[in-house]
Amino acid sequence: MPNETVDVLIIGAGPSGAVAAAHLNNQNYKVKVIEKSKFPRFVIGESLLPRCMDHFEEVGLLDCLKAEKFEVKSGARFLSKDIVCDFDFSKKHTQGWNWTWQVPRADFDNALAQELIKQGVNIEFELEAIDVFFNSDGSSKTTVKTKTNEELTIEAKFIIDSSGYGRVLPRFLGLDKPSNIPTHSSIFTHVKDIKRPEGKEGTLITFDVIDKDTWFWVIPFSNGITSIGFVGKNSLFESYKGNTTEIMNKMLKLSNYYYDRFSNLSFEFEPVHIKNYSKAVTKLYGKGFALTGNSAEFLDPVFSSGVTFATESGLLAAKLISKELNGECVNWKTDYADYISEGVTVFSSYVKEWYTGNLQTLFFHRPENLEVKKQICAVLAGYVWDKSNPFVKKHNRIISSMAHLINMQKEMTE
Ligand code: FAD
Repeated sequence: MPNETVDVLIIGAGPSGAVAAAHLNNQNYKVKVIEKSKFPRFVIGESLLPRCMDHFEEVGLLDCLKAEKFEVKSGARFLSKDIVCDFDFSKKHTQGWNWTWQVPRADFDNALAQELIKQGVNIEFELEAIDVFFNSDGSSKTTVKTKTNEELTIEAKFIIDSSGYGRVLPRFLGLDKPSNIPTHSSIFTHVKDIKRPEGKEGTLITFDVIDKDTWFWVIPFSNGITSIGFVGKNSLFESYKGNTTEIMNKMLKLSNYYYDRFSNLSFEFEPVHIKNYSKAVTKLYGKGFALTGNSAEFLDPVFSSGVTFATESGLLAAKLISKELNGECVNWKTDYADYISEGVTVFSSYVKEWYTGNLQTLFFHRPENLEVKKQICAVLAGYVWDKSNPFVKKHNRIISSMAHLINMQKEMTE
């Protein structure tokens, strides 16, 4: 006998699971969200993209987030030595949101969870999915473990796996595959930003490009804390000796622009080092389940696309499940996997071209081409399905072609 029977079981209460749960609850399905940790809990992924505002708005989760007064993000700044490339989301090719937030995820995810509870969603914390069995009709029995190590079962017609780095179904069903994104590592922490300058400079989200493979993020929050982190090749991190605090302190010297602001501050937590974070799967759905968010795919933090993909895929999966439970026919390949893969492929071209250096050539070439900038800005805002944008439609060749032209021009004038 199962301990509980629901229409849809959602594993994980991050943004992907939250948006999916809100949609299904709005449609009056019996949903259960299980979350292995106790909220608020830390997770990385603090810079959002305007596109995810569409998702929060659609499922009725925007007002609870507005009430938190997170730092508004209306663009992003990239620095390369003394060249500044500033993107302003109000100047972009595709219509859509002009702003979003930069958020401490513990507070952000907790605000979403508390609102869901208010709306009547059944969320249970400190409940971990430890095994799943699928019947031939796609219905499933999930074994969950409570914090006191008691094992219970939940039967569901459908499972949405939004377990992020937990990667529950990819692990249980052997769906992991190597990512085709170059392997990089990251080290990050939070600081009390006591030397934060007044005005816009203090609150600007910035990516300080150290070299082709290495960059430093600065994400100021409205609570006076700032997230700082480096991304680079694994070999760069291996070249530093010591614990993560020592490594972070040594690496801060790489950023001329920010060294004074962040040196000699104590860290809010021992810096975290994550290696080879890019993830991919062999399939995004199967009979009775869908993978969403990081449980499905994660590329690279450079364009802050993680949460937006998490909400895009969470919402779409929930809509399709809702249709199927309503007796309608769903083509999961075209309506889910192909659509999600299309967006992932556009972003993955940008990530790859970032690390070839071609995209950096476009960002830091002067004088700027304002039309090109508007088109790239729409991609950086998360609007990666708009085929009227040449930087979406021709994503796999336009960046390298333009970089090639710029480099040829440079050679001719030198
Ligand atoms: P998560 O937010 O990870 O939530 C999954 C939840 O599932 C967790 O709460 C977890 O406790 C729970 N869970 C796991 N296993 C189980 C289980 N067995 N049973 C029950 N619950 C379980 N993204 C951005 O958008 N912007 C950024 O600036 C950004 N920076 C990043 C920097 C780095 C270095 C890295 C590695 C990633 C970054 N990301 C960023 C990506 C971002 O972290 C993720 O894409 C995002 O958190 C995915 O959301 P999610 O809802 O899929 O999963």
